[in-house]
Amino acid sequence: MVAPVAPGRVLPTLNEDGTRRWLRPKPSPGAWLTRRTVVAWLLIFVYIAIPHVFMNGKPAMLLDLQRREFTFFGTTFLPTDTLLLMLLAISTVIAVFLASALAGRVWCGWGCPQTVYMEFVYRPIERLFEGGARGSAQLDRERRHFHPRRLAKLAVYLVISSFLAHTFLAYFVGWDTVTHWVFGSPGAHPVGFTIVTITTIAMLLDFTYFREQVCMVACPYGRWQSALLDNDSLIVAYDYNRGEPRGKGKDREGKGDCVDCQACVTTCPTGIDIRNGLQMECIHCTQCMDACDAVMQKIGKPVGLIRYSSRAALAGKGKHFLRTRTVLYPVAFAAVFGTFLYQLTHKDAADITLLGAAGAPFTLEPDGSVVNQLRVRVANRTGTAQAYAVEVLGAEHLKVIAPMSPLTVQPGRTETMPVFVTLPPEEFDEGIRTVTVRVTDGVRFDGKFAYRLAGPMRDRDDSHDRSEQGGERK
Ligand code: SF4
Ligand code: SF4
Repeated sequence: MVAPVAPGRVLPTLNEDGTRRWLRPKPSPGAWLTRRTVVAWLLIFVYIAIPHVFMNGKPAMLLDLQRREFTFFGTTFLPTDTLLLMLLAISTVIAVFLASALAGRVWCGWGCPQTVYMEFVYRPIERLFEGGARGSAQLDRERRHFHPRRLAKLAVYLVISSFLAHTFLAYFVGWDTVTHWVFGSPGAHPVGFTIVTITTIAMLLDFTYFREQVCMVACPYGRWQSALLDNDSLIVAYDYNRGEPRGKGKDREGKGDCVDCQACVTTCPTGIDIRNGLQMECIHCTQCMDACDAVMQKIGKPVGLIRYSSRAALAGKGKHFLRTRTVLYPVAFAAVFGTFLYQLTHKDAADITLLGAAGAPFTLEPDGSVVNQLRVRVANRTGTAQAYAVEVLGAEHLKVIAPMSPLTVQPGRTETMPVFVTLPPEEFDEGIRTVTVRVTDGVRFDGKFAYRLAGPMRDRDDSHDRSEQGGERK
């Protein structure tokens, strides 16, 4: 059966008959490539270096999922920091919106790991082994997928992907642990070994097979583009007025500056023709700008036929920096990020959570006294170990047993200690007695929290449905 043929190209990476159209973009040396190379290698260096950098005695970045603790540049966010992390996430989203409104897909072309590693690590290695873009295209045509040069390239890809996967893992467990695991048996750390293996395979598949399809099909950011950009956003654009009507050959009477040489198309890593206008597939990598500038220099025309511009500017409507979104986004960012910074810098030296014991809310002693067990959870936010003492105040005939007090908590760690509070039944009003729990390390932290103890109802004998307990800062 013959496969149906599409009336036109559906995706730049698909032929009309649905087979994969392998893209082998030609590199285009130029000023923009030089700038992007500097930025890309700086980012690669930062990515590899961060797990080795320590700040305030902690890794610069550690995403400890097991303990639910996230360290960013020496500041550790504990599981109790949900609000802070939420504010940080919202700030990041608004910053992305702002960057897109101002500079289009600058992230895709300059900062996204997919672009950085594909264009500055994996693709140059491919060109080295396969004899440039032409050599790769030749091997494609001859269907020599297992040519020795391709197998050698894959071996190098494997080594690089494995190294990057280990670096990736170091962001979650620390570089020392990764090193320890590398020199140990995989059976001693099956989870780490599995994560590294899966990450290595995923990277290999991505940079060997999926490539630009990740940007076109999998990444949601490209799809948001139409919502995030407006007519004044900076984009990589072809100057239609100047370039058209395009035409090849010597007789250029009445023709625009575009000589239809296709250099901008053959260099495009997503296989599109920028002359067709703004397209979802364009990652704003600037390669077509360099390619076209070289052509313009060769034919003695001004550079910039393809350049950073905006749809409004190209239509002769001028540049408008101040727009609704370029005003609202910074205001929203300042408000959310400002709140984040305020909350971060005004955090207590410890986070205290008061919890009731599992099971019955209270028990009765033979003499009728009421015993409540509560658990005091202490998160030490300081950089040194602290000993936290607990006392309970607010009732005359109170007896408190806190067998673990004072409790020593290591920096950035969370520990829980049980506290038993005994009161005569007449101290309870309608089955409730509010007391004050004081937790202090004697130096940097001294907090008082209201806590409701549960007890028997005086006029009714069933109060055991009071299972909800809680403490609040006074
Ligand atoms: S059209 Fe130009 S900027 Fe867009 S992806 Fe292709 S080469 Fe890069
Ligand atoms: S590189 Fe420039 S001149 Fe050549 S086809 Fe593209 S836009 Fe036209």
